Amino acid sequence: MNKGKKLYEGKAKIIYSTNDKYLVIQHFKDDATAFNNLKKSKVEGKGVLNNRISEYLLTSLAQSGIKTHFVKRLNMREQLIRRAEIIPIEFIVRNVASGSLTKRLGVAEGTVLNKPLLEYCLKNDELQDPVVSKEHIFNFEWATKEEIKQIDKMTLRINDILIGLFRGIGIKLIDFKIEYGKSWNKDKGVNEIVLADEISPDTCRLWDSKTEKKLDKDRFRKDLGNIIEGYQEVARRLGILPEIANVKEVNFSKPRSIKFKKK
Ligand code: 5GP
Repeated sequence: MNKGKKLYEGKAKIIYSTNDKYLVIQHFKDDATAFNNLKKSKVEGKGVLNNRISEYLLTSLAQSGIKTHFVKRLNMREQLIRRAEIIPIEFIVRNVASGSLTKRLGVAEGTVLNKPLLEYCLKNDELQDPVVSKEHIFNFEWATKEEIKQIDKMTLRINDILIGLFRGIGIKLIDFKIEYGKSWNKDKGVNEIVLADEISPDTCRLWDSKTEKKLDKDRFRKDLGNIIEGYQEVARRLGILPEIANVKEVNFSKPRSIKFKKK
């Protein structure tokens, strides 16, 4: 698989073309941003961990019948994914109140919600990803009624699967953000909705079940320190950290190392 030109660079990832028009390469950077880019930093090793954690989670979801863009991991920072036209909506699922929900509606942080709450936000940094209704989505034709119906169903199923997966390793899934794309299925000759982007501690709130210690990007947003240790803890509990530690990193412009805590 030949890596071609850069097609898109986002805050945490870069997309490159390949010699197959249906496939692209997703590269995970160490850059961390928050509050609409006002807070920026590099968190060494974050890209490597997110690449591996996202691979694990999307592969697990695929095993449960969720269609995703993930094809295979190529190296420490890159994965081969299906090319997809991204629907310009962030799909947020909340199981416990936290973050922007507490600020917007005055709900106390940590309130367990009666049932999973789905929210839609327009993907637009300048407007700070505003919450939108389904009516906005249909009116501005960001997605059709059928697409949203299918996505809502997939999103709730993904939530169920991930809650169980994380519960099994002593982690509460507080909330998360996912994105979907429309991708060409060569075999079927149709465009289909696939789970795209990534699922990682950058895009989820993950609290230790017993201590409620945050193991996600809130450590960066809230200056809690030990950011990478939180991500490593998630990877370790998923059983993928030893594998990361044993693989030599390739494709770096300068040598880097990831530090792992001694047990
Ligand atoms: P909130 O709306 O409370 O800021 O975020 C809800 C959930 O979605 C959190 O898990 C958060 O990490 C994720 N999320 C929302 N918007 C974004 C975004 O623009 N980028 C990333 N990486 N995650 C987001």
